[in-house]
Order: sequence, then C-alpha cells, then structure tokens
Amino acid sequence: MHCPFCNAEDTKVIDSRLVADGCQVRRRRECTSCTERFTTYEGAELLMPRLIKRDGSREPFDEQKLRAGLLRSLEKRPVSIEQVEEAINRIKQRLRATGEREVKSLAVGEEVMNALKDLDEVAYIRFASVYREFEDLNQFREEIERLEKTPHGSLTRSQKS
Ligand SMILES: [Zn+2]
Repeated sequence: MHCPFCNAEDTKVIDSRLVADGCQVRRRRECTSCTERFTTYEGAELLMPRLIKRDGSREPFDEQKLRAGLLRSLEKRPVSIEQVEEAINRIKQRLRATGEREVKSLAVGEEVMNALKDLDEVAYIRFASVYREFEDLNQFREEIERLEKTPHGSLTRSQKS
C-alpha cells in the first residue's frame, strides 16, 4: 500500500502478527522511500445483522458506535485496547451467531453489559447505570450486591491479587 507520509508506492512489511483473538492481522510497515513506519490492521468484513430500535426503526450495525460506547465506560480503567477489540469481536460473533438478519438493538446492549462484566466491574456499573437507567441509589446498590455474589469477574480476581 502507499505510504501515508510521502505517498510513495512501495512499502514493506517488517512485522506481522495475529491480534484480537486471531480475528485480525496487525502489520508493521516501513516506507522504502522516507523510512517512516506505520501500522495496518486487517480483518474479515462479515455481514452484521441490522438493528431494530425501540421505536421499530432499523439502522445498520455500527462498530464505531459500539467501540465508542465501550471506551466511554472504560475511561481511565486498567483495560487495554487489545482487550476492547477482543470484546468487540466476541460481541460481533455472538450477534452473527443468532443467524438473524435483524436483531433488537437491546440485544447489543445486553452483549455489551456481559462483555464489561468480564472486563471491568466499574465500567460495567457505569454502562449499566446509563443503560438500565437506575432510578435510585437503592437499585444501584442492589446491582453491586448482586455482582459481589457472582463468583466471576474482575472484582473477584482483583480481590485475590
Ligand atoms: Zn514514505
């Protein structure tokens, strides 16, 4: 591919490895002309189901929106971008696995909650509090208590370490 810095036609791959659970190839490239280095990611583009919103309207699945939502919840949390990409891939796989051409956008929200529950409890609470629109602090506390009883997730792990 062309060099994004000097537009030279010839760049060479200097490193290549699988990332995001093997769903993407990360390539480190170097321009043979200006020697600048840059990274490309390659992944399969598979058809995603369309989303049915609460009001019945349809919209295309938007990966950027999904990523933005996850990153907003994970702001300043100890979760790597690699883990976020893996979560996005898993969510996409699960949505495709339904075999439906259209799924409720609510289903995506539930998948995000499941993913965050495994990644980071704080991010999960952040997302859930917006998504489920906690009405009061009692509800919020109930959710936290429920989480603490669940024998998996980062809370359990971080307590052990
Ligand atoms: Zn160049």
